[in-house]
Amino acid sequence: MPPPEAASTSFDALAREAAALAAGGSPTSSPSARAGELTANEAEVARVMQICNACRYCEGSCAVFPAMTRRLEFGKADIHYLANLCHNCGACLHACQYAPPHEFGVNVPKAMAVVRVQTYADYAFPRAFGALYQRNGLTVALASAAGLALFLVLALALRGTLWHEPLAGDFYAVFPHNLLVTMFGSVFGLAMLALAIGVTRFWRNVSPGEVPPGGNAPALAEAAHNVLKLKYLDGGHGEGCHNEDDRFTQSRRRYHHFTFYGFMLSLASTTTATIYHYAFGWEAPYPVTSLPVVLGTLGGIGLLIGPAGLWHLNRTRHPLHGDDAQKSMDLGFIALLFFVSLTGLLLLVFRDTGAMALLLAVHLGVVMALFLTLPYGKFAHGIFRSAALIKWAIERRLPSRLQLGSD
Ligand code: SF4
Ligand code: SF4
Repeated sequence: MPPPEAASTSFDALAREAAALAAGGSPTSSPSARAGELTANEAEVARVMQICNACRYCEGSCAVFPAMTRRLEFGKADIHYLANLCHNCGACLHACQYAPPHEFGVNVPKAMAVVRVQTYADYAFPRAFGALYQRNGLTVALASAAGLALFLVLALALRGTLWHEPLAGDFYAVFPHNLLVTMFGSVFGLAMLALAIGVTRFWRNVSPGEVPPGGNAPALAEAAHNVLKLKYLDGGHGEGCHNEDDRFTQSRRRYHHFTFYGFMLSLASTTTATIYHYAFGWEAPYPVTSLPVVLGTLGGIGLLIGPAGLWHLNRTRHPLHGDDAQKSMDLGFIALLFFVSLTGLLLLVFRDTGAMALLLAVHLGVVMALFLTLPYGKFAHGIFRSAALIKWAIERRLPSRLQLGSD
């Protein structure tokens, strides 16, 4: 632990560096960047964090700023952690007196967003697949085309036609149950494994493994609460974050909730149907009032409203909030979620007609595209951000190493 005079010297150094940067120095002139440790984008996060650490006006906005004040220097692991802790709410950009066009050019959400996507690629498993984050729009398009082609051809091969006499909603008359379980179970399992390995790599890099007094359980409970409520999209004052301008809005939080809980209800529907099938021998099709269908319908409605709202918000977002290069990844994921839901609900409505095989093939093709791209697209942000929130909930329960006063 540095003595107070050492900390004061570090603050002097930070103030000198911020002044030098304001006078025209580049992000890569910071000590860490000079040592070759940081990329240019990471050096930009270190630069804005050094300015913010001297300013601290945004301390109450989110978890990033109190986490920042526990550091005097920002190494690679700190930057990766803070980038994933940022929810891109925009509050600190709209509050900042040093934001562009000021010569300091402080844009925290953009600097964090650029590094955040780089961390997904850096920790990806297999590592070579990390490049898919950079070309995610193309990846989603190719996965969608491949998924659709696969199931349309399979339906033709198995039934000889995509149009048939009504089959009383029996999906397994088109695709055998075991075939679907094998295909989707293996792809979803591999996607979850890739994400688990990626986030474990991230965690090992950013977290020293300290345990707070009282154990990890309270920290985990707090992190779960913050994830489930999306606390840090409340702007720090509860009125919401920013989207296209200075106004506060709860829309991003609400549409995220529709999307997240819609996804979870859809997963619950599939899980319930699996239990029915294997534990009780109750085979699909299930009546519209059954638990799997009710859960799936509610989830599907959530996955129509949420992604439609997020699409609109993304298209109208303030240009300084984020990284334009990531728009195709964001929109590709949003579109996939929307079409999974739309095709699923259409299938439910028309499952007793001769169009079932065609609708089922299209739905399964889109679901397969979603599963294939889950570990290499926008879905990763929920996993990495949850890990960062757990780290913050643990860290804030530990005494600050700086010992500069109250946290
Ligand atoms: S974002 Fe701007 S106002 Fe907020 S702490 Fe940083 S420098 Fe200060
Ligand atoms: S954009 Fe929002 S979440 Fe990110 S650092 Fe700024 S205030 Fe915090």
